[in-house]
Amino acid sequence: MKTIFTAAVHAGRPENGDPSIPSVPGIDLSVSFRAADAATLHAMLSGEQPGYSYSRYGSPTNAAFEAALCQLEGAATARACASGMAAVHVALLLSGLQAGDTLLAAQDSYGATFALADTVLRRLGVRTIFVDATSPDAVAAALAEHQPRALIVEPISNPLLRICDVGTLAGLCHERGAQLIVDATFATPYLLRPLELGTDIVVHSVSKYIGGHDDVLGGVVLAGPHYAADLRSLTILTGGLLDPHAAYLALRGLRTLPLRMREHCRNALAVAVWLAEQPGVARVHYPGLPTHPQHDLARRMLPAGFGGVLAFELANGDSAAVHRFLDALRLVLPVTTLGGVASQILYPALSSHRALEPERRRSLGIGDGLLRLSVGIEDADDIIADLDRALAVALRS
Ligand code: PLP
Repeated sequence: MKTIFTAAVHAGRPENGDPSIPSVPGIDLSVSFRAADAATLHAMLSGEQPGYSYSRYGSPTNAAFEAALCQLEGAATARACASGMAAVHVALLLSGLQAGDTLLAAQDSYGATFALADTVLRRLGVRTIFVDATSPDAVAAALAEHQPRALIVEPISNPLLRICDVGTLAGLCHERGAQLIVDATFATPYLLRPLELGTDIVVHSVSKYIGGHDDVLGGVVLAGPHYAADLRSLTILTGGLLDPHAAYLALRGLRTLPLRMREHCRNALAVAVWLAEQPGVARVHYPGLPTHPQHDLARRMLPAGFGGVLAFELANGDSAAVHRFLDALRLVLPVTTLGGVASQILYPALSSHRALEPERRRSLGIGDGLLRLSVGIEDADDIIADLDRALAVALRS
């Protein structure tokens, strides 16, 4: 591949035999497509022949976005979905999960993934066992004991930024006939190409870094060639596809993904280093800091940077201090998302993890003073100045 900077700018551009080729794919809203003749239409519907028939089967704007992401990820097939959770759902089904099967899932999976496995899949007869995916020994033991169909992990976990070793987990899964599904939303193909490390299926929430501007809700599933037919038919049947308007915006966002990620990583490291020096901050969780328990693994697995998200704990961390801190911010946006160009902050105890019993939440390391910060691409000094002012307010009283 050309560098990811070049690939992101050019992947998925229209290429056809017309005398004038648009530089940018159009937003193709047609739900139906007429074929040259009936036989061609039927061959396209069955998948024997490429082409467009009905937009739930595939459509041109989505195809441009999917082709671009395939190139960035080194995937053979991709389907853009209506949200990250739609993509997680499809990825789990793509592994072939059925009643009576076991799924292994990282214990610090994104909350909705955890709940999808633990409620909806459980109701359908799939048993989910949660495992510490940062420990290859724990995963190996769980694979041996439970013979799961698949393991789903996030290489950079939310909100504590723990790292799991994707290559090692892929090897362990394959020894036991299980598939590895990686939700690489936090990493993006700029930091990690999980398929090259042996992962079977990759998912992203496009709503985060790939879209990058907080104006697209979307997801994507990517895999190797032998998944192509199943991925196509699963998305046709479950129907949660990305809207072409959103696909257009997602592709536009993707063009600058490497540039944005480079800045997110630089700024996050600068902010993490600064936070670690503040007396009002008890602890900083960021894989780029040498104090992070998996810093060496992060350096090996994520050579381009450590991502744009960090978490930190206020020293006098109770929810009143956290609220004072959040209300004092002027630049950093207190919103329940991440990965946008603007810095974004979230209080896990009362938002993403509010459904957990306080004891359980604290036992997972998500204390009352923990904040998750998605560091944006503003000037790092401006982000730090905003945090500094808010820290002073939080520490007062
Ligand atoms: N996976 C991860 C790691 C996430 O952080 C999120 C959302 O925050 C999702 C999946 C779900 O994505 P969406 O909100 O686009 O459905």
